[in-house]
Amino acid sequence: MAFEDLYREVILKHFKKPQNFGPVADEEATAEDENPTCGDHFKLLVVLAAGRISEIRFDGRGCAISTSSCSMMTERVLGKTVAEARAMISEFLGMVQGKCDPADEHLGDLAVLKSVRDFPVRVKCAALCWQALSKALDKLA
Ligand code: ZN
Repeated sequence: MAFEDLYREVILKHFKKPQNFGPVADEEATAEDENPTCGDHFKLLVVLAAGRISEIRFDGRGCAISTSSCSMMTERVLGKTVAEARAMISEFLGMVQGKCDPADEHLGDLAVLKSVRDFPVRVKCAALCWQALSKALDKLA
């Protein structure tokens, strides 16, 4: 399958049916972040139990890139320790900012977002929820 097709398929799958997506009231949001350039705005609810992410949910609205990035992020970090989640955050942000090239098999579906590094406006969309997760972990851990 051509990369463009894979990219479209993965992004659209998560955009149409985001995972761990549901209502998060303002008072229960652990962190929120927005990208005014694009209009993306997400709230994130993160719950830690015994040092692991036991629950994660996001709410809000955004473009296909930001929504699919958020959906894939929640799938990847659920059940992970704070240290593991922080490592994933820096790896993902490094990848979309063009600072590192993690192995595709390590990233899973997230690898398709590597191509946003060629579009600076899109980097913010892809990075948004990861930065919100970082803020949430700072608050909780
Ligand atoms: Zn966006």
